[in-house]
Amino acid sequence: MPYPGTLDVDLTGATAVVTGSTRGIGRALTELLLASGARVIGLQRGTDSLGPGHTCLSVDLADPAARADAVDAVLADHEIDILVNNAGINLRHTVEDFPRDEFSQVMSINLDAVVHLTQAFGRPMLERGHGRIVNIASMLSFFGGVKASAYAASKGAVAQFTKSVANEWAGRGVAVNAVAPGYIATELNVALREDPERNGEIIGRIPAGRWGSAEDIAGTVLFLCSGGADYVHGTVLPVDGGYLAR
Ligand code: NDP
Repeated sequence: MPYPGTLDVDLTGATAVVTGSTRGIGRALTELLLASGARVIGLQRGTDSLGPGHTCLSVDLADPAARADAVDAVLADHEIDILVNNAGINLRHTVEDFPRDEFSQVMSINLDAVVHLTQAFGRPMLERGHGRIVNIASMLSFFGGVKASAYAASKGAVAQFTKSVANEWAGRGVAVNAVAPGYIATELNVALREDPERNGEIIGRIPAGRWGSAEDIAGTVLFLCSGGADYVHGTVLPVDGGYLAR
């Protein structure tokens, strides 16, 4: 490794909420936040704590009432400094056959939950005059894809939501940004990686010549939570091995 290690960010005393903290990108990020000294409250259905400093609340983010209960429970005991809206799903159908309930489910988890949690955790951040919010978008925030109408619609909306909130909150101490991952090897895309032909096609289109890792995304989110990103507002930052540069 020519550039070993990661950012040396001290988040001692900070409390972060990370949705989807137990698997994939959210898990790698939670491990990095814990290593940086932050406490992490994970909101997802699973409840497996990663260790000291990591508390899990079981919540189905598709359910607005469950989201509201989780927000109340968190805010009753904690001041939140960092919110990472990471949890997301991808359901794939051609648009003419997309069941409306499945389309709504994608929008509910990938977009409505992001809006809801940004409002709920953002208000106290605005009152205190500081906070960081990072939304996990996607390359499909920038373009569409086959069988991706719901996912791309949700992620495109997350990107524009991020920029709009930043317009309102950048001058009030709360930095709102998004990271747009490219192809990242997680449970979300096991099927693609297990198909040798598809896997070869994908790697062939990535200038870096490999799938990204969850840690690649986590490091960028940590940067956006650090003092080094004080003047970064409303960006949707691709972390994609150069995919969008082609
Ligand atoms: P994973 O499938 O590995 O993890 C998804 C996480 O979301 C899990 O922790 C899961 O927890 C949580 N989650 C899913 N559904 C719900 C729900 N209904 N309620 C609460 N939590 C839920 O995904 P990734 O780590 O790959 O993806 C993380 C984010 O990155 C997503 O927003 C995804 O769209 C985005 N992304 C990923 C890319 C990739 O290539 N992997 C590329 C571009 C963007 P649980 O099941 O316990 O509820």
